[in-house]
Amino acid sequence: MTTTTATSKVATRLVDAFAAQDAKSALAATKIPRRELFADDVQLDILFCGVCHSDLHQVRDEWKFSIYPIVPGHEIVGRVSAVGSAVKKFKVGDMAAIGTMVDSCGVCPSCKEDYPQYCDAGNVQTYNSQDKHTGTPTFGGYSESIVAKESFVLHVPEGLDPAATAPLLCAGITTYSPLKHWKVGAGHKVGVVGLGGLGHMGVKFARAMGAHVVLFTTSPGKIEDGKRLGAHEVVLSKNPDEMAKHVNTFDFILDCVSADHDLNAYLKLLKRDGTLTIVGAPENPQAVSMFSLIPGRKSLAGSCVGGIGETQEMLEFCAKHNIVSEIEMIDIADINTAYERLLKQDVKYRFVIDLKSLKK
Ligand code: NAP
Ligand code: ZN
Repeated sequence: MTTTTATSKVATRLVDAFAAQDAKSALAATKIPRRELFADDVQLDILFCGVCHSDLHQVRDEWKFSIYPIVPGHEIVGRVSAVGSAVKKFKVGDMAAIGTMVDSCGVCPSCKEDYPQYCDAGNVQTYNSQDKHTGTPTFGGYSESIVAKESFVLHVPEGLDPAATAPLLCAGITTYSPLKHWKVGAGHKVGVVGLGGLGHMGVKFARAMGAHVVLFTTSPGKIEDGKRLGAHEVVLSKNPDEMAKHVNTFDFILDCVSADHDLNAYLKLLKRDGTLTIVGAPENPQAVSMFSLIPGRKSLAGSCVGGIGETQEMLEFCAKHNIVSEIEMIDIADINTAYERLLKQDVKYRFVIDLKSLKK
C-alpha cells in the first residue's frame, strides 16, 4: 500500500482510500490526509459512493486537468461523525451527503445566487481540485471519511435508501437542474439521450415533471428498461427511420452521452426555438453544423450539476416522488473492473461502492 503525502500547515489525519497514481495506473489502496475540523466543518464517515463517468474521465486524464494521485468520488452519502463548533444544521449521527463541490468564493454574483457551480473564481471540486485551507489536492468519496464546509453538505431526507441516494448527488442534480431551468413540464415533448447513470435519472425526473418523455439509446437491450423507468417512447438512435419520425417535434432534449456522437442528429429533432442541452462531457470536441441551428432558431446549451439549495430541493423532490437511482453495489476492490464495464455500457444504471469493503 502507498501513502499519499501532502504538505500543509493545517493538522491532518490519515484515512484509508483508493487512488490512481497516474493516468495509466489502476486504482489501488492508499492513505490520504483529511484536515482536522475548522469551526464550520462537518465530517462524514462515508457509507456509499456512486461511480460517475466523470470519475473515469478524470482518473484517465481525458479532460487534461487531473492532479495525481487522484481519489475520485463525488456522489457521497455518510453519517456525520464530527462537527465543528460553529456548525448549526448537522449533528453527529445524521445521514448526510456531499456532491461535486466542497467550496467556492461565496461572493461573486453566481455564488450569491446559489450557483457555486458557476463561481467566477472556479469552485473547489470534491476531488481533483485545491483545498483552500490546506493548499493540497482535494480527495473524493472512494475513501473512509471526508471533511467539508457545512454549507456544502446536504441532508438526506427520511425514507430515501442511502445507497440508492448516493448517485442523486451528481447524476440526479445534473439532470434535475436543466429540466427545471428550461421549465420542462406537462405539454412538453422531452428527449433524453443515453440511458446511463445520468440518463436514467433524466428519464425519471422528466416523467415526474409531467413531460412526454422519449429516450434515445444505442442499446437495444435497454428498450424495456427505458419504458419501465418512465419513457413513453424509446428510439434506437442508430436507426435513421426511427429518428426521422421525430424531426421538428421536441421542445427540449437533454444529452447525457459520455462519448463521441452526432449532435446534428438531435438538433434536427427540435421544434422551432427548441433547446438541446448538453450535460455529457466527452473527451473530444463535437462538430455542429450552423445549419442545424439557424433554420429553426434553435439553441444549443450546456449545464453543470446544480446549486446546493437546488440539490437539497432535488433530494426533497425524490423523497416526495419516491425516486432513487437504479444501482449495482460493488466492493471497492472491484472498482477497476467496474470502470471497464462502464465503458461497455454494462451497468444498470449506476455502480455504488459500499465503503465497508475498504476494511476487508
Ligand atoms: P454512463 O453511465 O457511462 O452513461 C453514458 C451513456 O451514454 C451510456 O449508457 C450510453 O447510453 C451512452 N453512450 C455511451 N457511449 C456512446 C456512444 N459512443 N454513442 C452514443 N451513446 C453512447 O455515464 P454518466 O455517468 O451518466 O455520465 C455521462 C456523461 O456526463 C459523462 O461524460 C460525464 O462526465 C458527464 N457528466 C457531466 C456533468 C455535468 O455537470 N454536466 C455531471 C456528471 C457527469 P445508451 O446505451 O443508452 O446509448
Ligand atoms: Zn458526476
